[in-house]
Amino acid sequence: MLLYRRPDMMAIKPPFLGVAYYPEDWDRSERNKDIEKMLSIGINVARIGEFAWRKMEPRDGEFDFSWLHEVVDQLKSAGIGVVMGTPTATPPVWLTKKYPDMLVEYKNGRRMQHSGRRHACSNHPEYRKYSARIVEKLAMEFGNEEAVIGWQIDNEIYLHNNEGCFCKNCAERYHRHLQETFGTVEEMNKRLNLQLFSQAYDSFEEVPLPRDTWENPHLKQEYLISQGQAHIDFVAMQAKILKTYTNAPVGTDQMPLNGMNYRKLHEPLDLVQFNHYNHPGNLWECCLWFDYLRTLKERPFWNTETATCFSGSTGTSGSIKPDGFCYANSWLPLVLGGEAVMYWLWRTHWAGHELVHGSVLDSSGRPMYSTQEVKAVARDFQKCADFINGTKVCTDVALHISSRCYTMFETQPVVGDFQYEPNLKKAFYKPMIDCGLRPDVIDEEADLTPYKVVFSPLMITLDQGDLRERIVQWVENGGIWITGPMTDIRTKDGTRFTDRLHGMLESVTPAVFQYWFPDKEKRIKSQWNDGEEFGGNTYYELFEPNPSADMVKVTKGHQAVIGGAVLQCFPVGKGWVYLLGTIPDEKDMNKLIVTVCEKANIPCHMTEGKSLIVSPRRGGKTSGVILADVGGKGGVYRNKTTYRELISGETVEKDITVGPYGVKVLEAIEN
Ligand SMILES: [Zn+2]
Repeated sequence: MLLYRRPDMMAIKPPFLGVAYYPEDWDRSERNKDIEKMLSIGINVARIGEFAWRKMEPRDGEFDFSWLHEVVDQLKSAGIGVVMGTPTATPPVWLTKKYPDMLVEYKNGRRMQHSGRRHACSNHPEYRKYSARIVEKLAMEFGNEEAVIGWQIDNEIYLHNNEGCFCKNCAERYHRHLQETFGTVEEMNKRLNLQLFSQAYDSFEEVPLPRDTWENPHLKQEYLISQGQAHIDFVAMQAKILKTYTNAPVGTDQMPLNGMNYRKLHEPLDLVQFNHYNHPGNLWECCLWFDYLRTLKERPFWNTETATCFSGSTGTSGSIKPDGFCYANSWLPLVLGGEAVMYWLWRTHWAGHELVHGSVLDSSGRPMYSTQEVKAVARDFQKCADFINGTKVCTDVALHISSRCYTMFETQPVVGDFQYEPNLKKAFYKPMIDCGLRPDVIDEEADLTPYKVVFSPLMITLDQGDLRERIVQWVENGGIWITGPMTDIRTKDGTRFTDRLHGMLESVTPAVFQYWFPDKEKRIKSQWNDGEEFGGNTYYELFEPNPSADMVKVTKGHQAVIGGAVLQCFPVGKGWVYLLGTIPDEKDMNKLIVTVCEKANIPCHMTEGKSLIVSPRRGGKTSGVILADVGGKGGVYRNKTTYRELISGETVEKDITVGPYGVKVLEAIEN
């Protein structure tokens, strides 16, 4: 006897607690048992279909969706919503055998084989044609199916090996991209200074793919951009087909940025879908992505994949996690502006590549150690659903992120093997959240007007559309802009300026650039105006001393640089510009953040222990704050408001203590 609820798909509303489910693993009776267990745990969504191309189209042009209808009907009769995945990440062997040159070509000339995933090239015309056909067939079958609450295009589309594909089709695409970017080959030769090394070309077709020589960084950058664009076009092609047949929201599940222009990728999509497998050592890092994802689309994002306990393939490098980790991890997307969390996966595969990946149920059908926490998540999501659905994260601070800057640092790291993303997270984002701020992480195209303060570190080029003009206008209207280090030091092509270090800083402020240099040994010693020591590392750009603007100056290191300014602050219009010339040590970044927030009259919701994150929420007449512990140490939130804590139902005021991996959902009580 099944415990199924009555089918009423209208009753499925966010927050969604979902699972990836592979019905191709299980027969009908096992699926019935699985669905009963999903209901008893509180799962209300299943993601299915990804990777099942061969089962949907066993032979060229012969389609079979009967099995998938049966599964959808089973889920539907239980009132479980379906996220349908297009299967294009796994073209079947009959297809790759027919077009062997469809397989991705590595830089050494070898091709990928059939066996894994994403082995076909997004630029290959036949792969695109066959992908379009299977997507259309699937959409015709399920486009009007009320149980399908959303669509997922493909799965985790990235540049292969972070390098891309080197096949003939990709070469053609690259040359087309160069033509679109530079217009004429003469213009390319001129803009990229290709007379150097006798690199100038007579036609775009002569430009080689960046395989294994001493690559020109500017040309390699364009190659990576063209590779990202191929995937963006491939996703857009599928989105266009799906939208002909369905009104359900369409997305593609990914992990940013990987060199792809994330905003452009999402232009034809309805919502952002995001996968992560962070663990206790780096759980805070995925908060940066959530803070970014909510700025991209009106509709709250979906966390389409995360692990209940550990990741793994045929072996796991993971380990049992502390009590409550699964609980806090499951809450994070909702805390930071999403409306769904879905586990990968429901039930561990009993055969295949991922034999030991953590799940809700083991392949035996029995619970994993974290399943009780999943149950608690389901229960507590329901208690807080109205507050979550009725409020949004609110903030007036932003941190810039840029896919072009990511790609540029990949091709020219400036200092050693400097990496954009880890440094942005660790040196700038982490101190912001440690100060209790909730920044929106915004890209170069985002509107600046909602913010009082914008941090733009490591934005190696600002030469992106009208970004420079918009920043200046926003500052003149009262914005506070913290720029540097390594910001605005390249053109959009990745070349340097010939009469200055920065594109616009000297024309916007009275600052005068002095020297730039690497400092791996921390030879440079500096001091704040109040006499406290200031620590910087890795890279410096110094400005000539200016008594009215200096905040930090060099005291030791090399006689040429003593007295040079590491941090200056200038009034510009009604606003302020802070020029930061190095990567500050943690305590100094904290001090700068507090100084800037005081100036902007933004409260820093300091918490003890640097373990909690703070997410202020507002919507209609409701306001509140959600606290979540991501560091496993718990902490205390200094508070003056009276709240109702929606999970426990208690009224709280004054300081609020959150335990290790605890979550508190606090709705303000009007006095
Ligand atoms: Zn290719």
